[in-house]
Amino acid sequence: MRRRPGGLEELLGEIGSCRVCVERSQGAALPHEPRPVIRASRTARIAICGQAPGTRVHACGVPFLDPSGDRLRAWMAVTREEFYDGTRVAIVPMGFCFPGLDTHGSDLPPRRECAPLWHDRVLAEMPGLELILLVGAWAQRWHLPFMRGAGMTATVAAWREVTGADGAAMHFPLPHPSWRNNAWIKRNPWFEVELLPALRGAVRRALDAGPAPPAGPVAPKEVAAKK
Ligand code: SF4
Repeated sequence: MRRRPGGLEELLGEIGSCRVCVERSQGAALPHEPRPVIRASRTARIAICGQAPGTRVHACGVPFLDPSGDRLRAWMAVTREEFYDGTRVAIVPMGFCFPGLDTHGSDLPPRRECAPLWHDRVLAEMPGLELILLVGAWAQRWHLPFMRGAGMTATVAAWREVTGADGAAMHFPLPHPSWRNNAWIKRNPWFEVELLPALRGAVRRALDAGPAPPAGPVAPKEVAAKK
């Protein structure tokens, strides 16, 4: 996707004031004020593409500040400081705003309006990306269309095939680090024995390389629109 003249700063400004899911929603409108939560920098080497903020992230504006985040950091073998170093790590979920809860109290899926509108445009503004973590089925379906229909287990199991770099950013499909996937992790021991060491090596190489040379003027930036 072509980069825009106004660059990442302008794009993040537009996202910060986005009200599409309230004013032009597809189906039911977002049941609360939008609060996009995204971190992006032109110098980022790693992008973490998850699902959408939950209630806690919606309240505090800091992504992965929960037990799932702790587990994801353990999978990556990074400290909190490294994880939240916006010069090297971007956090770009498939839906930027908390989508609300279903009748059972579970998080709704990412808003369908969000990714087609913003996702690829944000990634296009980070030319130094080397590694894209696809955390959960929503990110995998978007980034690996040839795996659509295969299901999350088959997609993660194919990690060696989909991480082929070919000069572009490497994709690492991962399950969501929620406790809900504890049984899945037990059933698939290759995930911890084979995939995680490879992931940790790739993450360490990207982090140790430092911030990517910026293609334009930038500082790390996060969007968490005021409530
Ligand atoms: S979820 Fe995405 S498209 Fe919807 S209001 Fe938030 S930023 Fe805009």
